[in-house]
Amino acid sequence: MERLEQSAAIRGGVTGPYELPEYVELLITQDADRLALHIEQLSKAPCGKCGNPLPGGCGGIHKGEHDCAHTREARQLMLTEPPFMTEAELDALLAKRDEK
Ligand SMILES: [Zn+2]
Repeated sequence: MERLEQSAAIRGGVTGPYELPEYVELLITQDADRLALHIEQLSKAPCGKCGNPLPGGCGGIHKGEHDCAHTREARQLMLTEPPFMTEAELDALLAKRDEK
């Protein structure tokens, strides 16, 4: 909460601090705009398996396979991308997940 108030004050700049509801609404709007942009970009790189773009794609039935958009491109839709992984590390992670 302290950080939120601090950020709202700094982001308000010369116009003065944002009211918290206004600030949160702006953050939501900005992220929605960013998400729409990412979805638009990903529409140019549809799933190599089914040909459909993310976020739907193949629905994840080919997730883990190299040419499936759910394997790598889907990371671009995450709010914070997971740390960079090598191909081998990603394969190991996906294999571990599939064991569960
Ligand atoms: Zn797919």
